[in-house]
Amino acid sequence: MTFCRRCWNVAERTGEASDDSECELCRDPRRDPSLVCVVEEPRDVVAIEKTHEYRGLYHVLQGAINPIEGIGPDQLRIKELFARLGAEPIAEVIVCTNPNLEGEATAMYLARQLQPLGLTVTRLASGLPVGGDLEYADELTLGRALEGRRNMETGAS
Ligand SMILES: [Zn+2]
Repeated sequence: MTFCRRCWNVAERTGEASDDSECELCRDPRRDPSLVCVVEEPRDVVAIEKTHEYRGLYHVLQGAINPIEGIGPDQLRIKELFARLGAEPIAEVIVCTNPNLEGEATAMYLARQLQPLGLTVTRLASGLPVGGDLEYADELTLGRALEGRRNMETGAS
């Protein structure tokens, strides 16, 4: 196993050099490249895929902002996300971090950075168990939260 060089999801190493860099989802031409769903871990990608409600691409941060453990934006795959914004036709970023303190802090950080760039930044609708992990939400609840996603308010003037 290796990581996808585009979305940082886990990717299977096929042995063919040309296929090594991107995961199956990134290579699928049926996915909508204008939508990017930002998640904390590869297992969140699995959870969202199970809902069958999402047809865009992903970006895996490989963690969340956690000041107590010394994890800031620089420890996450955030600069890789910004690099993609310049190279891909991304119009909407759906922040699907976990509904807990670290996930919320990460979502706020991303919204503050992304909205000035003219991107639509949305967050999953409420209804997910607060303090829980995205991966533990059932498919129906997660699917509804995706469908009912809302623009994030950062309070920035
Ligand atoms: Zn990928």
